[in-house]
Amino acid sequence: MKAFKYLSPKTVEEAIAFHGQHSETSKFIGGGTDVIVKLKEGWMEPDFLISLKKIEEMSELHKNEATQELSIGAMVTHATLEKSLMIQNDYPIIYDAVSNIGSLQVRNVGTIGGNLINAVPSADGAIPLIALDGVALLHGPDGERSCDVKDIFVAPYKTILKPGEILKKIAIPPQASNTGSAYIKFGRRAAMELPLIGIGVLLTLDETKEICIKARICLGVAAPVPMRAFGAEKLLVGKKINEEILIEAGKIAADESKVRDSVRGKAWHRKEMIRVHVRRIGLKCLEIIKNNS
Ligand SMILES: Cc1cc2nc3c(=O)[nH]c(=O)nc-3n(C[C@H](O)[C@H](O)[C@H](O)COP(=O)(O)OP(=O)(O)OC[C@H]3O[C@@H](n4cnc5c(N)ncnc54)[C@H](O)[C@@H]3O)c2cc1C
Repeated sequence: MKAFKYLSPKTVEEAIAFHGQHSETSKFIGGGTDVIVKLKEGWMEPDFLISLKKIEEMSELHKNEATQELSIGAMVTHATLEKSLMIQNDYPIIYDAVSNIGSLQVRNVGTIGGNLINAVPSADGAIPLIALDGVALLHGPDGERSCDVKDIFVAPYKTILKPGEILKKIAIPPQASNTGSAYIKFGRRAAMELPLIGIGVLLTLDETKEICIKARICLGVAAPVPMRAFGAEKLLVGKKINEEILIEAGKIAADESKVRDSVRGKAWHRKEMIRVHVRRIGLKCLEIIKNNS
């Protein structure tokens, strides 16, 4: 591995300034679970690694009691999210996703921000944040801007981030009552496995707890970037939610996906798993809504 200098700025501004001084030869590093692999394999050879670890505000996880907005700093680790009772109770879709990432060691250091910015189609952390209508706050040499989490991704390993731009945090808007959400990572093994397909569903029902007023069906590894199955979502909104309609939504979501064959799985199998799991996770959402009443 080529030698590099390790910089530890304490503020976002300092990190951006460091990057500005060495823009061609520096790289931001979060937990390093992706970056270190690439350094070891010689896929990148920066002269400077700019660590985001000491920027305190980027490791904060909190819910604003007044607005009920959840704020997840980009440097929050998967393990922090997994252990948080607030996440377990109020955002089961996040818990489902992060608690199955890699191994305990990977979850202890890997961050939610690194998971998004690495931008692989199989990023488990992306799906719940898209389903929850997450908004990413970016900060770069030209100042701050924000975008929907779903719009971060351009192509595998490619995001909308400009050189020197940092993902600072993700804001999750307040959730309506009668909302249930869940995620399933379908893979060949139970641990240390990237998903063959990742499926997240979020349903909000009206006050009668029968009619759907909001639906999110989000898929990972189903296209070059994480995607929403808009047609399947549209089918559910305004309708009474039961097993039959969830089966129909699963078929539509499978048809909407752009799955392909890869070394880890076949397209037809991925489609089948979308079809089957949209129904299963949809039913789990209904169960969550019922249990929370
Ligand atoms: C053994 C193993 C198993 C894994 N299993 C899974 C799995 O099951 N599911 C899964 O989704 N992933 C998995 N991963 C991938 C990886 O652990 C996650 O994507 C992790 O969340 C990456 O976070 P990190 O902080 O380590 O990123 P880093 O390696 O630090 O960074 C990744 C990329 O993001 C950039 N970056 C990081 N933070 C920021 C920021 N705040 N702003 C701007 N740029 C930033 C870096 O420059 C780099 O390009 C696995 C990795 C390993 C090694």
